Amino acid sequence: SSSRLYAGRFAPSPTGALHFGSLVAAVGSFLEARSHQGRWLLRIEDIDTPRCVPGAAEDILATLERFGFEWDEAPIWQSRRGEAYEAALEQLKASGFAYPCACTRRDLAAAPAARDGSRRYPGTCRDGLPPGRSARAWRVRADGRIHFIDAVQGPQEVDLAADAGDYIIRRADGLFAYQLAVVVDDAAAGITNVVRGADLLDSTARQIHLQSLLGAPRPEYAHLPLATNIAGEKLSKQTLARAIGDRPPAAALVAALRFLGQNPPDALAHASLTELWQWAQAHWSLSAVPRCRQAVASGFC
Ligand code: GLU
Repeated sequence: SSSRLYAGRFAPSPTGALHFGSLVAAVGSFLEARSHQGRWLLRIEDIDTPRCVPGAAEDILATLERFGFEWDEAPIWQSRRGEAYEAALEQLKASGFAYPCACTRRDLAAAPAARDGSRRYPGTCRDGLPPGRSARAWRVRADGRIHFIDAVQGPQEVDLAADAGDYIIRRADGLFAYQLAVVVDDAAAGITNVVRGADLLDSTARQIHLQSLLGAPRPEYAHLPLATNIAGEKLSKQTLARAIGDRPPAAALVAALRFLGQNPPDALAHASLTELWQWAQAHWSLSAVPRCRQAVASGFC
């Protein structure tokens, strides 16, 4: 993959305003791309339409611009990519890896939990729908082990069947699943390096699995430490994470750089954004990024 031109991306879900945790993913993916003379692309992950908040995507883009981020192409919107996801689903059906599933949440309530908290699929519909039941979702057969080396989190090994089992690629409500959309979009954009929050580490094995079924190249992965509040909870809309766009940009960026193990001088918090980004690009080091989750100062969470 070192022969391919570096392309990184930031892929926020417009379920609310940008918070400190998402700023960290933006800063890390941006600086890692720039330090490889790579391209940096934006993708608005508005695929899970019931969870999207009207205006949040525009708000995120405006905040990124105000913070001095520069992206190389017009952002991709997942809500406009249905045809590409449909084609991938058809490919998986044709190759026999995708199958229809009739199970409801209630049918699966007794199944063991996977690492990400979802239910491990017990395989009920794997060999055909039970008599009298009709298809609701589409799943993909998931067998075997996935190995990868994460640039921050180290070597990873996941037994697909023992983790999530056969996972959903098209949901019962007709929406395509995040796992499928991400893989299709990263491949279409020629993404070589995925730098994102460690909350997505558990999804990576499924995404690598889908890449291999679809014949898509495998990017390199770096999962950044998770930002939590003082109670140790991941910053999110549920924990009422503060909108980072309300904070002075330089101070917020200095806090994000520190969170990522970089060592910006205090004065940078009052410098111009041009000076700040110059310093950040000249000094960025992925190997300085810590791997463990950290609590964020109360002003930022
Ligand atoms: N949209 C996802 C999120 O905001 C990120 C997906 C990714 O980076 O692969 O958590």
